[in-house]
Amino acid sequence: MANKMSRRQFLGTAAITGAALSGMGNALSAAQAPQGAADWDEKNGPAPAAPDAPQALPLQPGAVPIIDSHIHLFDQTRPVFSGYTGGLFYRQVNKPSTPAAYAALARPAGIVGAIVVESAAQFIDDNLWYLEVCRDNPFMVGVSGNLDPGSTDFTKYLNHFHRDPLFRAIRSSRFYTKDAGGKLALNPTQVANLKLLAEADLALDTANPSMDLMNANVLLADAAPDLRIIMDHLPSFDPTPENQAAYDAVIKEMAARPNIFVKLTEVYHPKPGDNGIIVKNYEFLRERLEYLFQAFGEDRVMFGTDYPNSYGVATIPEEVGLMQQFFSTKTRAQQEKYFWQNSSRIYKWVKRSDDQPTPLAQGKPAPPLPARGGGGGRGGPGGPGGPGAPGGGRP
Ligand SMILES: [Zn+2]
Repeated sequence: MANKMSRRQFLGTAAITGAALSGMGNALSAAQAPQGAADWDEKNGPAPAAPDAPQALPLQPGAVPIIDSHIHLFDQTRPVFSGYTGGLFYRQVNKPSTPAAYAALARPAGIVGAIVVESAAQFIDDNLWYLEVCRDNPFMVGVSGNLDPGSTDFTKYLNHFHRDPLFRAIRSSRFYTKDAGGKLALNPTQVANLKLLAEADLALDTANPSMDLMNANVLLADAAPDLRIIMDHLPSFDPTPENQAAYDAVIKEMAARPNIFVKLTEVYHPKPGDNGIIVKNYEFLRERLEYLFQAFGEDRVMFGTDYPNSYGVATIPEEVGLMQQFFSTKTRAQQEKYFWQNSSRIYKWVKRSDDQPTPLAQGKPAPPLPARGGGGGRGGPGGPGGPGAPGGGRP
């Protein structure tokens, strides 16, 4: 079946069928069957579209605006650069991922802004790079950076980076341990630091979904009830017959914690251990989405593309189109919540341009962006007193 083949097979078939459908002729379609990821880029954009997959609706007045709560940025041409250069297929293209390149692909799909999430950053200066490239492009409305809650420098850097209003969250997922008997426990130092993160009104991204991480998130939600914990890419978790019951149970436990939020992202994903199959069967995907939507409710789910980690897996218009199709049976209010309002409450992202929606009341107004290059009048160097200490919050 079309929805049960390897990624390579699927994409090859999709390209051939797409060419045939558009009347390009057999010789051309055979010639265009991609031989490898490097071939896809220049001809087709990020990846060949599946001809029968839902596509993003054309932009029109009154459309629900979309904020992408999860993209990755990097520039491997920098002399100082650490690590990640995209998913399996984007790596072969070997190109930087910049806000401008992403925005050109995202805008036609109705996306008006995005949040960058750290990409396995290893060095503290990556945070500054994210903030600087994002400040330079108003398409970017927030940064989920990389600070290690297990580091003795955590407080110092939290104080430092949270002064920038674009710094909205960190991603960290190793805040727990597992003993030989399989019992999970939170790391007390990390919990203390993550409480400081909550005091600073910043959120925590966690990835990728595993049984251990989901169970640890339940423990963390109880230990730090004021911390907004985000489970990234939850639909990408494929339960097995062996762990189905435990999966259902932990979904229930996470859903029972109001401070756990979910990215309904990576709905299209290569299935691990199954030759990288990408299931594109709508009914299968709809059932999983409905299950998670019913569990977590309309106020705790967010949209994201995970671009360019999703490159070669699904195009941005496919990802948007899938979720528009899913939400087409929901109310307009539920659509607005999923596509932008919930991320505005959870991340408290910053509106940067007129075509971005105005964030909902967030308890306090979003502070203005600091002037470029200006450092005066921002309260001086915070000192290691905890994020609540200098001025009681973000400037
Ligand atoms: Zn990601």
